[in-house]
Amino acid sequence: KESVMAGENYEDDMHPKEAQDAAEKTALEELQEVRKSLPIYGYREQLLQAVEEHQVLVIVGDTGSGKTTQIPQYLHEAGYTKRGKVGCTQPRRVAAMSVAARVAQEMGVKLGHEVGYSIRFEDCTSDKTVLKYMTDGMLLRELLGEPDLASYSVVIVDEAHERTLSTDILFGLVKDIARFRPDLKLLISSATMDAEKFSDYFDTAPIFSFPGRRYPVEINFTSAPEADYMDAAIVTVLTIHVREPLGDILVFLTGQEEIETAEEILKQRIRGLGTKIRELIICPIYANLPSELQAKIFEPTPEGARKVVLATNIAETSLTIDGIKYVVDPGFSKMKSYNPRTGMESLLITPISKASATQRAGRAGRTSAGKCYRLYTAFNYNNDLEENTVPEVQRTNLASVVLALKSLGIHDLINFDFMDPPPAEALVKALELLFALGALNKLGELTKAGRRMAEFPLDPMLSKMIVVSDKYKCSDEVISIAAMLSVGGSVFYRPKDKQVHADNARMNFHTGNVGDHIALLKVYSSWKETNYSTQWCYENYIQVRSMKRARDIRDQLEGLLERVEIEISSNMNELDSVRKSIVAGFFPHTAKLQKNGSYRTVKHPQTVHIHPNSGLSQVLPRWVVYHELVLTSKEYMRQVTELKPEWLIELAPHYYQLKDVEDDASKKMPKGAGKAAM
Ligand code: ADP
Ligand code: MG
Repeated sequence: KESVMAGENYEDDMHPKEAQDAAEKTALEELQEVRKSLPIYGYREQLLQAVEEHQVLVIVGDTGSGKTTQIPQYLHEAGYTKRGKVGCTQPRRVAAMSVAARVAQEMGVKLGHEVGYSIRFEDCTSDKTVLKYMTDGMLLRELLGEPDLASYSVVIVDEAHERTLSTDILFGLVKDIARFRPDLKLLISSATMDAEKFSDYFDTAPIFSFPGRRYPVEINFTSAPEADYMDAAIVTVLTIHVREPLGDILVFLTGQEEIETAEEILKQRIRGLGTKIRELIICPIYANLPSELQAKIFEPTPEGARKVVLATNIAETSLTIDGIKYVVDPGFSKMKSYNPRTGMESLLITPISKASATQRAGRAGRTSAGKCYRLYTAFNYNNDLEENTVPEVQRTNLASVVLALKSLGIHDLINFDFMDPPPAEALVKALELLFALGALNKLGELTKAGRRMAEFPLDPMLSKMIVVSDKYKCSDEVISIAAMLSVGGSVFYRPKDKQVHADNARMNFHTGNVGDHIALLKVYSSWKETNYSTQWCYENYIQVRSMKRARDIRDQLEGLLERVEIEISSNMNELDSVRKSIVAGFFPHTAKLQKNGSYRTVKHPQTVHIHPNSGLSQVLPRWVVYHELVLTSKEYMRQVTELKPEWLIELAPHYYQLKDVEDDASKKMPKGAGKAAM
């Protein structure tokens, strides 16, 4: 069994039934003791009374005090689940899964039965489920099918301070629903930030705040700026490990790649230190970490050893790991940034805000006094960091939420009740894009294509690619590509000691310079031909886990095709149909080769490059369409496919004119441009 979650362990048949029952009972009793020791427990009755008296309640309490795991259980114990489900949203999918697993364990039930979770492409709930943890994005999608949330008695918008795009949109929607559903309880729960602001927004809803347990945390700054925060973080961890008394360490890094690198370097250096120092257990945690490894961070550290958790922002407020005494904070996180003028979105490593820095430090003082090592100067902290993180709604592409709101029948977006409104430009840009994609008509109304697109839990450009594949009779291929693009992380495995072999294996899929999308398709169909063989994955340096996830996602996309009445059709011999479908969705992401080997994006000129991992990085086709931009040392296009410029006029006539695609080399358009070239 591949994906055993914490909490499912009861199925283990190793012991005789009775012994197992007894062991379970004591484990359950122990967990009940732990529940009672959480700070929120002392406020249980008051809290339930406040919920009874008010329809909308803002709940504020320190991170780790028990809000996420306990409040839904209290509501269940008080009988709220007799009238409907208790839904609790989380900004991050790892948090939704891990918290649900914990609560199932505390209640002594199997995960997916009374307690479940729902995240994109993974529904672990059943008819029995009364406590449902889900990402905020999933509740938003549920609203499309159940606009009054009739199956819920309580909705908890948790980790509200994170202010993700979906959470902010939910605020506006649930506020409205609460007005015509007086029986619905609405709880807005947050770490100790912004309580007044939430209360003001929800028509001065009362604030229920309770004290946590906080021990002093000694803050250390560096005396001079660090040139390489990764290296500084590793040195700090090792110094703590060698010099400081026992207690676990939490390091904040920006993403999976950084965490994997840090893990490798740490292991090397620890080996270099010999056998005299005590054991250091390294636990990574990030969004794409397989669930059975996620559970590992919560395992108690063995006597005499020390644990170091290498985490993304997920450990800032969403997840609490007990026993952390030292926090290492390099002061950065990966953030989406969006330029509403050009419509370009990119992931950037950005300095965190003071509010984040405070939260991070606080993680060291939950069970005893602790220390926080900030790898930046006090001057830097005081002068350069913003007070608060800018809400996502103000720094992201809004196309996907605008499409969702339109399908909910909300047309007047300028007057939508945003807690903090997005820049008007960004709204206009989203409307323009949806119009160009054919999801909206000139009046801004949803078209038939738009209605179909909204059914897919994907970015509108991906949904468009799928919807249009019907016309080109290649939906079978296109959903495989969409699934492969949605797995998160690379499907290619590239171990440090076998890089040459891995690269050769990868290039096999690129034969004929087909482009990255088609290469992904070839990976998927080859795997399918072997009847989903694990051995095949090993031989071809493909990540088995990513492929299984791709298959799951693909199955769901296939189900959705049926729902929007698109037939599965295959056209493997005519790969230009597949390419045209890609371009029909991703035409805003096109770039043209420059003399110096770089590219210029076509519509809003900007210099970009083909990512070195792309199969086309040495080929440099004249015109390309790309899936996404990532900024590292340069602005890179990731997942690139060649296109014919005349397709742009054919497929996106509202977006491109002849002059945009005129080729300077020949100074004339290829024949047939502007007409249907098929
Ligand atoms: P809050 O939402 O107020 O930040 P939580 O309810 O998330 O607090 O956490 C309460 C306690 O539950 C913490 O001590 C935390 O360590 C524990 N906890 C949460 N999830 C898990 C898990 N998956 N495994 C073990 N302990 C957990
Ligand atoms: Mg919480």
